[in-house]
Amino acid sequence: MKCSRLVSYFERLEITSKRLELFSILADLFKEVTVSEIDKVIYLLQGELLPPFHGINIGMAEKYLLRAIAKSGDIDANDLLKKYRQIGDIGKTAERFCRGAASLALTVSEVYDAIYQIAVMGGEGSVDQKIDLLSSLFSQLSPVEAKYVARFVAGKLRLGVGDATLLEALALSKGERAFRASLDRAYHLTSDLGRLAKIFYQSGKDGIAAISVRLGFPIRPALCERLSSPDEIIEKIGPCVVEIKYDGFRCQAHKRGNDVILFSRNQERTTPMFPEIVEAIQTIFAGQEVILEGEALAVNLITEELFSFQVTMQRKRKHNINEMAKNFPLKFFVFDLLYLNGIDYTHFSYTDRRKKLAELIPKNQVITLAESVVTEDTYSLSRLFNETVERGLEGLVAKRPDAPYTAGARNFNWIKLKRSYKRELTDSLDLCIVGYYTGYGHRTKFGIGTILTAVYDKEEGCFKTVSKIGTGFSEQELIDLSARLSKIISHDKPREVDSEIVPDVWVMPKYLVTVTADEITRSQNHTAGRDATGAGYALRFPRVVGFIREDKGPYDATDVSEVISLFNMQKQVKME
Ligand code: AMP
Repeated sequence: MKCSRLVSYFERLEITSKRLELFSILADLFKEVTVSEIDKVIYLLQGELLPPFHGINIGMAEKYLLRAIAKSGDIDANDLLKKYRQIGDIGKTAERFCRGAASLALTVSEVYDAIYQIAVMGGEGSVDQKIDLLSSLFSQLSPVEAKYVARFVAGKLRLGVGDATLLEALALSKGERAFRASLDRAYHLTSDLGRLAKIFYQSGKDGIAAISVRLGFPIRPALCERLSSPDEIIEKIGPCVVEIKYDGFRCQAHKRGNDVILFSRNQERTTPMFPEIVEAIQTIFAGQEVILEGEALAVNLITEELFSFQVTMQRKRKHNINEMAKNFPLKFFVFDLLYLNGIDYTHFSYTDRRKKLAELIPKNQVITLAESVVTEDTYSLSRLFNETVERGLEGLVAKRPDAPYTAGARNFNWIKLKRSYKRELTDSLDLCIVGYYTGYGHRTKFGIGTILTAVYDKEEGCFKTVSKIGTGFSEQELIDLSARLSKIISHDKPREVDSEIVPDVWVMPKYLVTVTADEITRSQNHTAGRDATGAGYALRFPRVVGFIREDKGPYDATDVSEVISLFNMQKQVKME
């Protein structure tokens, strides 16, 4: 496919936010693409060269991108910078100033490969080489192609098509919505939409059905549902395995040969953060291949006290990892086995997966099986819960003993019961920042006074506002936040955001914050969960706890359906 043709689809996608229209534009596009290019087209639509877990990122700084545009357009770099500041959009700047080609000759593959080559180039002098290659690419593109390539290279393509939309459109492009379930299953097991699309186009439904867990490809995590009391849990799933809910950093460890890769819960590589986990897995699983899942948590080795999430998360700073490892040693509390020596364990029951784990993990300093107890009745579950709360821990996770591992799904195979359920609002929420107000009084100096936050609506594929929040950030955090948000400002309301409130500044959905509140209330101002009467949901006395959730991406935000179930849970608590 010619790049110009793909770009004509980008233009159509950019001017609609109606879901059905998005599906039909994408499905038309996919029908036109050949098998050899479908993966690249998908990645380009996602605004990535490859899924993040491959660790290849174009992320070129804007100043270099501007140098490439200036070179291709024969314009002085300082003049271009001034123009860019006036225009405010790197794509439109490239469209206007790149010299551009007369004939629309390049194919999607040629453009993708050229950008790929630029991304992987490293070593001395590579910045200049990258600028040269990019400017020569710009010279072979029409102005409108240059617009989208520049946005892509700057990480600002933002066509507003999430993974769920792409999966739906892929199914529709083959004429069958019914393909969606098997596409979802395969996607949750391998997290690579481009590869999935290629297999779908090459080998159809059977190819997709044959997709299984693959070492090196992160499995999307199974998630917990909530219930508000031990009675409800026992009523729902009967006797169950109960584990501590560790408040740490979810880690999925893949070992192939002697290599260990660690993935975060949003499928990013986090291997360098946890050298002691890598080493322990290499030793314990010498000669074996395995995928394990658990929580990494900083612990006091003498008192066995578990530290808070904030302490563990200090590892996120890439420097001083070794010092951190010395001062705050970690343990990896493993709770699941997903793959072992060629066997996909996700189909096995939880009881069997646990049993195998217990056989595999000998006593050692770093890797420990998550504490677990089989409970038969409400009485013993309540007792366990109270003991956990007394130990200062977050709560429990109850697991259905006969359940397989349901990748990427939130269901009642796992149910969390948290300490905060004893108060009125039964859980914290992970909300996506979609805008902010510049603040008044002393806050103006930080550039941010209040943030506008949203939940995600999986059904509709968009972010819906639920709260304005001005409490919970330290002054330093406000400064950090302001620096981060200034890089993702959107001049208009982002297309994936549904909001009636207009903040001073819109930002692209990217960062999540964990928020607690006194109560969830009905509200006419917010769009989350809006019903026919126009009433949505809002938070009363909301406050941010902790800082940005580095381990979660925008689509991991609390779903609108969870807010509704928390609202209903809260009503029950009040009635009791
Ligand atoms: P939440 O983030 O509140 O939805 O809770 C679910 C998270 O709890 C999971 O994503 C895990 O990271 C974490 N977790 C902690 N301990 C366990 C456990 N024993 N089993 C499963 N998940 C756990």
